[in-house]
Amino acid sequence: MEEQDVSKTETTIDLGYLTGMLRQLIEIPSPSGYTDSIVHFVGEELERLSVPFELTRRGAIRAVLKGEQETPGRGIVAHLDTLGAMVKKLKSNGRLEVAPVGNWSSRFAEGARVTVFTSEGKTCRGTILPLKASGHAYDKEIDTQPVGWDHVEVRVDEFSDNADDLLQIGVRVGDYVAVDPNYELSDNGFINSRHLDNKAGVACMLAAAQALRQSGHVLNQSCYLLFTIFEEVGSGASSILHGDIAEMVSIDNATVAPIQNSLEAGITICMMDSSGPFDYHLTQRLIDLCDANELKYSRDIFNHYRCDAASAVEAGNDIRTALVCYGVDGSHGYERTHQFSLFELTKLLAYYIRGESIVKRDRYDLGPMKGFPTQPLPEISIG
Ligand SMILES: [Zn+2]
Repeated sequence: MEEQDVSKTETTIDLGYLTGMLRQLIEIPSPSGYTDSIVHFVGEELERLSVPFELTRRGAIRAVLKGEQETPGRGIVAHLDTLGAMVKKLKSNGRLEVAPVGNWSSRFAEGARVTVFTSEGKTCRGTILPLKASGHAYDKEIDTQPVGWDHVEVRVDEFSDNADDLLQIGVRVGDYVAVDPNYELSDNGFINSRHLDNKAGVACMLAAAQALRQSGHVLNQSCYLLFTIFEEVGSGASSILHGDIAEMVSIDNATVAPIQNSLEAGITICMMDSSGPFDYHLTQRLIDLCDANELKYSRDIFNHYRCDAASAVEAGNDIRTALVCYGVDGSHGYERTHQFSLFELTKLLAYYIRGESIVKRDRYDLGPMKGFPTQPLPEISIG
């Protein structure tokens, strides 16, 4: 039998797998702090793909696509948690006051269908409504009431006229509230859904892993696949690195808006976010991969944004970080992306994983100048 040269095997992204995986991930509620089910789901998928992994105590996942070399460690990261809410008070009118989990406006919560996960292990359905929810009852006041979490409440789909009724139903302060995604894939490739941030990033990572596994491609170097569970509340990648990762690419949503330079149908490479500039060399590698492989991309700066990279660096990890994004219009609100964006980003991830560390010297925490990279500067003559 002829030997197959797997090193040259093409890696083909399966759009059906990518979209199907996104759909399944989206349907599993996972507000920050209530992520065990999504961790089990992703763990089972990694087992199916024969990708080995370990879990941290709280459930962040460290999977690895093994390559011929191990160091310096490099990885890609996406978060499994989403925005949500938590019961703050059982109100005397039989409804629930809620506090947001993650940073999102109650403007986009009004009208959302939700599931309350009660402490007794039961669930109860409901709707987030503004306090003045009926024009017939409140006339023009419905248009003048303020926006804010103090001005909405959850109407549970149970007979409930007072706080005691809520207690009977089993609702308690601190119960998690998950918001329905309302997923819709249009014939022309647009995907409308809540929680695209960051289920879409997770789907891209899994689709890249699936494609590489399917192709039988032998990696030159190992690449970690990291799935964090507390990104939306700030501590994302702080506890998953264990000192062995030298470069890390975050995958998250771009900020498509008229004032931004992000692409909805393409890749956006973020050059800087509110935590500062991303690593020059790692970011340039990703740009080069887009250019070399004719991937559609744009560059942008996100002013009001942080991702898993920030929590990793703030936790004291001396690592190179970059941020690559699928387009999301209306992020943390009524989110929309396009299949093409996810497809292009998945290709970029596969190309990145197939490569090698950008700076070999990064295998040492501390070391001499030899091998340290340079950034272009004009010739400076002294004297
Ligand atoms: Zn995100």
